[in-house]
Amino acid sequence: MSLRSRGIDAIDIEILRILANDCTTAINKISQAVGVSVPNVRKRIRRLKALGVIKGCKASIDPEVLGALTYLILFQAPEGEDGNTDISAVKSSEIERIFYSSKRGFGAVLARTLDPGGVDEIVRRIEKAGFQVENTIFIDREVGDEPWVPEKPLTKVQAKCSFCQSIIVGRPYTVVLDDGRILVFHNERCAEAYFKLNLDKGRLKG
Ligand SMILES: [Zn+2]
Repeated sequence: MSLRSRGIDAIDIEILRILANDCTTAINKISQAVGVSVPNVRKRIRRLKALGVIKGCKASIDPEVLGALTYLILFQAPEGEDGNTDISAVKSSEIERIFYSSKRGFGAVLARTLDPGGVDEIVRRIEKAGFQVENTIFIDREVGDEPWVPEKPLTKVQAKCSFCQSIIVGRPYTVVLDDGRILVFHNERCAEAYFKLNLDKGRLKG
């Protein structure tokens, strides 16, 4: 399989739409729905994964049913920061999502906690990471968690490196595993680092 053509066609988009709504949909059902063969669907999914378009397959949990309290916490990078602050320092198990504008030095997190006092701890951690918390908003309504899928075919997709997870500019370095999966990397160095860290149980072909 070649990654030379890095576009996304209308069939890929249909497959993405089906998987985004239920990633456990059987391949033969997808094949029937989009009108291409089972091997073709399998090949397309493998390619969408290799490109990093499909990030994974996760269960969608309803926090409300579990009695979680939801907060939107708005924060700002410290005065005089150039936006290169390490935003990953904000991460913690209560935080579902982090949004950050490095240009503006402004961010928001979506946090969930079972403990009514838990939000104070989350705020403290954000401040400890060097950010200034501007506002903590309790959220009691959430509407529309529809997954986003592109509306039309795309001629080009920016692949993501399997090792560093950042966008690959230019030609990717591709590795084919024994089981037929394809991994893409920035270069040989990223690929070596990936296998050295044993991030994949798959073995190199040949
Ligand atoms: Zn890389």
